[in-house]
Amino acid sequence: MDFGVLCVHAHPDDEAIWTGGTLARYSDEGARTAVVTCTWAEGTQRAGELERSLDILGAGKPRLLGYADARKPESAPGSPRLLDVPLDEAVRRVVEHIREFRPDVVLTYDGYGSYGHPDHVHVHRVTMAAVEAAGYDQLYRDAGDPWRPHAVYLATIPRSVVASHWRAVFGTPPEPGQTLPGVPDEHVTTHLDVGQWAERKWAAMHAHESEVGRGASMTLLTSLPEQARAQMLANEWYRRVSYTGASETALSGSRP
Ligand SMILES: [Zn+2]
Repeated sequence: MDFGVLCVHAHPDDEAIWTGGTLARYSDEGARTAVVTCTWAEGTQRAGELERSLDILGAGKPRLLGYADARKPESAPGSPRLLDVPLDEAVRRVVEHIREFRPDVVLTYDGYGSYGHPDHVHVHRVTMAAVEAAGYDQLYRDAGDPWRPHAVYLATIPRSVVASHWRAVFGTPPEPGQTLPGVPDEHVTTHLDVGQWAERKWAAMHAHESEVGRGASMTLLTSLPEQARAQMLANEWYRRVSYTGASETALSGSRP
């Protein structure tokens, strides 16, 4: 099967949390898989953890852009924050990976960054611009031959799933007017059952030892009651944005 899946993520650990089941599944099914990670530099502890996570998921070597995390200057000493580099520069860097890897599909966060982190929101915007730009031979002419993926899949959570776990995570129902992650269920186009790969995903998440250690973004998952956690690990949801209408090459719930 010549099918390429390229993820573009903000931080080491997002590849496991948001797309780990999809990556493990497609790797097992013979697809080419890879992950671009926009923040954290080579030589940092989290870059090493990313390498182990990618090993577990079968997703190749880290592709680090090496910018700094919005909130952690130590993530890339001496380098600008991803949020502060010119948009054109960040887009070009992602275009280079798209043209070199030639993915059929690109995976990134939804428009709300899946849960609102400013780096995630920015990576969504950069990736959408890069996927469009990568197909034009007039743009970034020295960044490889043009390539147009068939579709972008935006990692998200159906609102009904968010609602059903909110009380378990936070102990109280959401406040009226509170901003919730996720999208209305009818906006989810693609549901992948990754139950068979849930243990690999969990192992990849735990490769990020420093994040597990400080609670971090995995708090949500690790603090869930076991049944709810199993549900979150066994399912990944996306909004599909199509560039060619070629559904036969898309991610699907049953086969690639
Ligand atoms: Zn993140």
